[in-house]
Amino acid sequence: MLKRKSMRFVAALMAVLASLVAGRNAALAAAPQHHDQVPGFYRQKVGDLEVTALFDGHGVFDPHWLNGTKATMDGVVEALREDPRLLDVSDEGFLVNTGRQLILVDAGAGTWWGGGVLGRLAASLRSAGYTPEEINIVLVTHLHSDHVGGLTTQDGKRVFPNADVYVAKAESDFWLAPEIAAKAPKDAQPFFQSAQAIAAPYIKAGKWHTFTGSEPIVDGMQLVPLPGHTPGHTGYEFSSKGQKILFWGDTVHAQRVQLQHPEVTAIFDIDQNAAAATRAQLLPRLAREHVLIAGPHMPFPALGSLRKEGSAYGWVPVVFTDQWDENR
Ligand SMILES: [Zn+2]
Repeated sequence: MLKRKSMRFVAALMAVLASLVAGRNAALAAAPQHHDQVPGFYRQKVGDLEVTALFDGHGVFDPHWLNGTKATMDGVVEALREDPRLLDVSDEGFLVNTGRQLILVDAGAGTWWGGGVLGRLAASLRSAGYTPEEINIVLVTHLHSDHVGGLTTQDGKRVFPNADVYVAKAESDFWLAPEIAAKAPKDAQPFFQSAQAIAAPYIKAGKWHTFTGSEPIVDGMQLVPLPGHTPGHTGYEFSSKGQKILFWGDTVHAQRVQLQHPEVTAIFDIDQNAAAATRAQLLPRLAREHVLIAGPHMPFPALGSLRKEGSAYGWVPVVFTDQWDENR
């Protein structure tokens, strides 16, 4: 009798323990992981300007897209074995709020480049509290689709319906000329086709403007010609209260290689020698003057400055915080 009772007790205890274990497993299973990240924007004060980096997406640069000496490129391939994220890149556009105007510098890829991993810029803009309709001006560094694809939908609608778009005349004339496109190699054809389709609705609306020299477009902003990557590749340098920020487009793609070896070019540079010469001329000044750089392919938030390291440069990144720093 006693034995049976104790057996029943043991059985009951086991059942309770089993249910506890089951309950614990159920509790574990009820803690699904969250794989979404923070919204893709970051604000930075530059004098009186509010500059917001707008994340468009992440990508990986292929070592075969870089041109350097054999020794340099062997070194890159070797380094990649231990450091497989060496050539990670991102894509950004930037919003400048001057207090009177909302100016977008480059617009991300939209649906024109990157096979779906890019094209987040409009969502990042909304997360930052702005709408595409509010944008007054878009300054375009060049007409590659990872920088202008976000301007236009695949069915030809303007994403920024109230914006005037500015681009260097040499850039516009090159990519939008049917006779140049006709002579271009087959691999390059898609760049011409997308540039033409992206520009078309802005041209039709009278919202596509070109500049040839140093025409004033925005108060406190200077045009900085950066030829080589493309014929009319242009940077935009804003100054406010003694602080400067240069939106440098594709001056550098794979920063961990090209800042160590500024002579290394990218196969997307149409004039390789000019692209290297532009870097050789520009980088010393940026390091000397501690100019803040907004680089669409630098690591998010894609803002930073240069530090001279012998014949090379180090990237001094702006580091993400959730605070607005009034004293920068
Ligand atoms: Zn690019």
